[in-house]
Amino acid sequence: MRLIGPPYGVLAHELGHHVDVLRSTTVDRYRGNFSADLRRQASEPKLTNYCPDDGEWFAEMFRLFVTNPDLLRGLRPRTYAALIERGFCPVFCSDDWRTRLAGAPARTIDINERRTSGVGS
Ligand SMILES: [Zn+2]
Repeated sequence: MRLIGPPYGVLAHELGHHVDVLRSTTVDRYRGNFSADLRRQASEPKLTNYCPDDGEWFAEMFRLFVTNPDLLRGLRPRTYAALIERGFCPVFCSDDWRTRLAGAPARTIDINERRTSGVGS
């Protein structure tokens, strides 16, 4: 699934790794215990096929939190709530996820319509 294209999405993903390291009390290379704790609390499936570990799981969730928070709230509500609970604030608070995906291919909109309605999540 293509959530949002590079380079903006890539930068948001990499920022997620940085946030993970900054918020962690223990760090192993590029991932810390923050991402593992948040994943355990949220207990939601991965967003994309790129998810070899907790650090990448978090980076992908963080990417969507930055680029389209309303879509993350629809697709992974417990992850969204866990980020808010930890003091994160979305940049695009008032945008409906469809607004953030303006100009995206119709199939991207269709996929997310199905996923946010609980079909194919
Ligand atoms: Zn990564």
